[in-house]
Amino acid sequence: MASGKGGVGKSTIAVNLAAALARLGLSVGLLDADVYGPSAPQMTGLKEEPKQVGGKLQPLQGWGFKMMSIGVLVDEAAPMIWRGPMASSALNQLLNDVSWGSVDEPLDVLVVDMPPGTGDIQLTLAQRVSLSGAVVVSTPQDVALIDVRRGVSMFEKTHVPILGVIENMAYFPDPSTGEPIAIFGRGGAKATAEALGAPFLGEVPIDPKLREACDAGRPYVVDSPDSPASQAIMTAAMTVAARLDEGAGLKPPPRIIIEH
Ligand code: ADP
Repeated sequence: MASGKGGVGKSTIAVNLAAALARLGLSVGLLDADVYGPSAPQMTGLKEEPKQVGGKLQPLQGWGFKMMSIGVLVDEAAPMIWRGPMASSALNQLLNDVSWGSVDEPLDVLVVDMPPGTGDIQLTLAQRVSLSGAVVVSTPQDVALIDVRRGVSMFEKTHVPILGVIENMAYFPDPSTGEPIAIFGRGGAKATAEALGAPFLGEVPIDPKLREACDAGRPYVVDSPDSPASQAIMTAAMTVAARLDEGAGLKPPPRIIIEH
């Protein structure tokens, strides 16, 4: 899960995609790798201190998936001031020292919420784990789209296949008619996805209730499954699951076991 810049709803989509994939019956982990601004604890309400078993940290559990974030391990303000090497070593710890899955119970999917941009963390991830694929989140604005192109080219360089592009905050439904109002313009992410040869995973509308659910620590796909925003995310999750399953042109099978 990646975006070129912050504030496009990357973490929101990551949390809801994890919940959506879990609703499809997959065994899902959510790794909040945004060590500079972890938001998964707030968005899932999973905040308790993780337990240690056999020298490994147990991921927190809720909404049908496992979750780990630097936000539940250190003081909330601390990661913001970290420099590159510290952030990379924190990420390594989140990958290595957490019992995400076992041979008996492997994860089907690990959704990784990356920090915005193309820096140290992205490189550490690309070097440390064999990512099955990346989902890129964008808003329709041109600036965000330029960043999407940058993000996609980073994944191409590190040979991570793009599972698709999601357009978030794609439109605002007219309160009386439900007709889409294209606040930031519309359709740009789809065009970009097509130009890049990456599948377009759909458009998630602006929905104030989605933000409220987020702030309250409840994934919207669970809280309000019939809303257009939730339906769009469920549809995207189905496409992602199918792409992982068919493994067409993708790197290793989606079974992820991180054990050392
Ligand atoms: P990022 O991870 O890209 O920095 P966030 O996921 O933290 O962005 O989202 C930024 C803010 O926008 C949050 O308050 C979130 O609730 C809100 N938000 C994200 N997507 C939507 C949407 N489709 N409709 C309404 N609010 C949204």
